[in-house]
Amino acid sequence: MHSSVKDVQASALSGRIDDAIDRLAPGAEQLLEQLVGINSINPGFPGIDRESVIGGETACTRLIGAYLSKLDFELNDVAADPQRINLAAVLKGTGGGRSLLFNGHVDTVAPFKPEAWTSGDPWKPVRRGEELFGLGSTDMKGGLAAACLAIAALKEAGVRLKGDLQVHAVVGEETMDHENGTTAVIKAGFRSDAAIVAEPSSQPEPLTIAPVSAGNFNLEISVKGHGTHAGNRGAAIRAGGEGPSAGVNAVEKLIKVVQALQDLEQEWGITKRHPAFPPGLFSLVPGVFHGDVGVPSVGYMADHAYVGYLVWYAPQEDPEAVKAEIERHVHHAAQLDPWLRENPPTFSWRSHWPVADVSTEHPLVDVLVRSRSAVLGPPPAGRPATASFNAVSDASFLQAQGIPAIVLGPGNIRYAHAVDERLNMREWRECARIYARAIAEWCGTAD
Ligand SMILES: [Zn+2]
Repeated sequence: MHSSVKDVQASALSGRIDDAIDRLAPGAEQLLEQLVGINSINPGFPGIDRESVIGGETACTRLIGAYLSKLDFELNDVAADPQRINLAAVLKGTGGGRSLLFNGHVDTVAPFKPEAWTSGDPWKPVRRGEELFGLGSTDMKGGLAAACLAIAALKEAGVRLKGDLQVHAVVGEETMDHENGTTAVIKAGFRSDAAIVAEPSSQPEPLTIAPVSAGNFNLEISVKGHGTHAGNRGAAIRAGGEGPSAGVNAVEKLIKVVQALQDLEQEWGITKRHPAFPPGLFSLVPGVFHGDVGVPSVGYMADHAYVGYLVWYAPQEDPEAVKAEIERHVHHAAQLDPWLRENPPTFSWRSHWPVADVSTEHPLVDVLVRSRSAVLGPPPAGRPATASFNAVSDASFLQAQGIPAIVLGPGNIRYAHAVDERLNMREWRECARIYARAIAEWCGTAD
């Protein structure tokens, strides 16, 4: 068998790309370390004083812009909020190819327990072997730097693209502030035929191609009680006592709601399935629980209590139906309790992150599967070539603007938002190899 001229050209190009990545990786890693060194906590993050962190996001987009301007990109600022500047960097193609954009957010969460980091400082990049430690290394400054490395390698390898290529370094993702970030950039006219969101996708396999992610709701459920001195408890709850007129503890009423939703969650574990997701992902997660009488004292029965939930639902579901199902379930459970029957729990649906769901038949999925296999080998026997992204991302909002977006990036979500966040730099270089091949194939090469 003779390999065709095209195959020989493709393998020669791959060799040039990989050589270029080896040469350029140290410089791109320096960019990543500089990005990690900038405190770019999302200024809208709960508990964060905006003034203390404002400007960090912009400092990151400026650094990425400086790197890309050397690669012939035209830089555009998009700033719905003038203190939080998004970068839309555009490399014009020679014409006739498909366009592609990379999306990545430069904001990070606030580090919880910063004193627990072994480096002593979440913003100090520390390299130990192939692991780079630092806040944002995985989520997701690493993904943006990998895209930069891939693009630099293509130029170094002498590749001229037919289709336009864009990099969107955006603010606001960690608080779903897409109107200031991703959506603002798209609405400013920076569109493309498809997008890669460079969020950390190394689950279940390294550098998983993830065309789908679950939707989620942020839900708060409140109940009221009848706050009184704790000494009235006997009269309030014991047989022969006075009952609710002596006091009702909202904390214990709310526990009944939580238990009811645990039952619903068990049911979801059996009934809610999607082929791309591991069983059990669709769930009801209570993350905040609070009740008191207005002062944080145990000397009272609480007169109000609330629980905050993150609700993960399957892509095929109607979000309104999910909301109705949860409210109905709590309503039925409340019928079993005389107080809750008369004083029903109230629901505050605080935010909704829509699903992302691109068909596995989309041509960009094909291109990514081929590129990934060329770098890492084919997926293990019996394993699908794609899987779900088990978090949310701006892919949802790109899709809402009509741009099919697929998540693929270096890093494991397990290390995101965690003490000692880290990124494996071998995987990061492999990701750049995948990106470079995918860009060349998707956009087409002029020579
Ligand atoms: Zn992220």
